Amino acid sequence: MTISATRLALPLPWGGLVYPTLIQRGKTRVLIDCGHSSKASRAALLKALKGKAPDLLIITHAHQDHYGGLPALLDAYPDLPVYAARCAQPYYEDQQRTVMQHHAHLKAFSQRMSLNEAISQQVLSGFEKIANSGCGTPLARLLDDGDHLDIDGIELRVHHHPRHHHHHLVLQLPQSGQLITGDNIFATHLTPPQVRFGDDGKRIADLPLLLESLQKLADIGGHALPSHGEELPDVRSVALSSKAAYERTAERVRKAMATHQNAPKLEELLSQVFGKVPVDFIGLRLGFLLGYADWVGAGENYR
Ligand SMILES: [Zn+2]
Repeated sequence: MTISATRLALPLPWGGLVYPTLIQRGKTRVLIDCGHSSKASRAALLKALKGKAPDLLIITHAHQDHYGGLPALLDAYPDLPVYAARCAQPYYEDQQRTVMQHHAHLKAFSQRMSLNEAISQQVLSGFEKIANSGCGTPLARLLDDGDHLDIDGIELRVHHHPRHHHHHLVLQLPQSGQLITGDNIFATHLTPPQVRFGDDGKRIADLPLLLESLQKLADIGGHALPSHGEELPDVRSVALSSKAAYERTAERVRKAMATHQNAPKLEELLSQVFGKVPVDFIGLRLGFLLGYADWVGAGENYR
């Protein structure tokens, strides 16, 4: 029996698309991710499923455009089992506390870094909406790196590829040579590294692990089905060129740091490396900047 993996195209409120993947073998169907929390995305998801319940939902990571369809999906199919990474459990089972704890750490961090009012506001916006989005659910199984699933003949290998989110999963379909890569790799742009804090509220270095994840993708190889943008028939070459692109920009951070006797304020480093950044993009750019600072060994100044 043949196995097919198809990307479902769902709209995003800020334009563009997000692609959950539907894997089918005979009557068995496994859905990977479930789109954005917007009404339009949820309606498009239910339409694409054509009234037939999937047998399983696996979520790559707890971002709004990947788990946002959960309430609609569970309304339509209350018995649907949901799997996610073991370290993602608090995001689904204790969503409000987990999201607001991150928000509190981010707020304290922006105060430590003396970020100006406009930047702090942008960086700290939107968390309450996410915390109360109702996208939580008990998980039927917690997945670990190296797990091997067999769902009625559909084989899936589980890979933990952290740092776009520390619990991000990649799913490999060895029978078809395909890889469902979530937000780890894209055809035309680099994935932003996560800004993450430990329980003590100190920022954890993330980009080094993201680059390791890209190397792991290159080593697995195959045809990638990313959550945004074009499919990648040769994931290895894109993973290696993305890794090189991160390293090139990190070099600019190294050079910028070398022009200062003492570590500059985060805002100063931001404009030195990226020039004038429109306020809407500051959160994204800061994520990259902190990642690069970690990669070149300057991250200790921005914990
Ligand atoms: Zn995404």
